[in-house]
Amino acid sequence: MRVGVLKGNGIGPEITSAVLQVLEATGLPLEWVHIPIADEAVERYGHPLPRQVVDALREVKVALKAPLIVNKGEGRLSCVQEDGSEVTYPSLNNAIRRELKLFVNPRPLRGIPGISGRYENLDVVVMREVTEDVYVGWEHRIGDVAAQAIKLTTREAAVRVARYSFDYARRNGRRKVSCLHKANVLNYTDGLFLRCCAEVAREYPDIEFDDYMIDAACYLIIKEPQRFDVVVTPNQYGDILSDLGAGLVGSLGLAPGANIGEVASVFEASHGAAPDIAGKGIANPVALLLSGALLLQHAGHGREAASVVRATRAVLGEGKVLTRDLGGTANTLALAGAIADRVRASD
Ligand code: ATP
Ligand code: MG
Repeated sequence: MRVGVLKGNGIGPEITSAVLQVLEATGLPLEWVHIPIADEAVERYGHPLPRQVVDALREVKVALKAPLIVNKGEGRLSCVQEDGSEVTYPSLNNAIRRELKLFVNPRPLRGIPGISGRYENLDVVVMREVTEDVYVGWEHRIGDVAAQAIKLTTREAAVRVARYSFDYARRNGRRKVSCLHKANVLNYTDGLFLRCCAEVAREYPDIEFDDYMIDAACYLIIKEPQRFDVVVTPNQYGDILSDLGAGLVGSLGLAPGANIGEVASVFEASHGAAPDIAGKGIANPVALLLSGALLLQHAGHGREAASVVRATRAVLGEGKVLTRDLGGTANTLALAGAIADRVRASD
């Protein structure tokens, strides 16, 4: 099976090589297709996300993507479309999602016995809409006295992410979908998002549906995490809530994610490029590894995906080989090596 690999920057390259080793331990015939991005694509093609790269991603259909540094306040990225027109995006990560029309970012948050303390039973999947909301990045300045951003919500995108969430719940034996929003203040935008979710819910009488204000949901996920199962939410709330959830599980280094589209899907950790620890070989590879497991499952290799997840949870639960973010002293390769050994032993 051909799998695209975007090795990213910051801690990206070091966690990527660790993760590929573990995925290879499943024995699947995996062919890694290296796809240049960011600096490497600039060197080769003169652009961080040239058409060639977008086309390569469409061609492989599934890719593992390591984090990319988000340049804060550096201005927008302009991408030339097939018809020669130009579209600009607020960041490279955002550009990848939108050029490939990736519409939902599922981020499973699952506690790990021995690691997650009182959250070891946490089991929530955040379905983050990723095509709109304030992250469309339509911002402008009004002199230097004010600035504005537009929050976009369309029926099409809200219905699509709602439907994906309910289908996911059905496929994975989940009991409930909750919509998280702030419709009491954002009557039109979040109001529409909530209404679309409620409409779609009627097509799924076997799945329970409810909704919470995002602020209340942040409180309740900490106080009563068992209330939540699958949650569907606009882009920005999903971004923030999933980092909060990663903290409950124990580390951003444990939080995987996927970006699902109709043509291609890209699997990436919830965390960023962590420039503060880059190049030291100490980053936790688990979030990207579990993203790799989501990729295998998506590509129809559920058995191998389950084996990677089991091995990861077993090694972490034993508490002997842990990276620093989890209070241990092991480096990236030691943790990945221990998990790879466990995957091989389980065959
Ligand atoms: P982005 O804007 O790209 O989401 P961010 O500013 O949210 O980036 P992250 O890169 O996600 O920041 O890092 C937040 C903190 O979590 C940093 O202190 C970083 O070192 C830590 N961290 C993130 N990922 C890992 C990891 N895999 N292993 C260990 N620590 C991590
Ligand atoms: Mg972040």
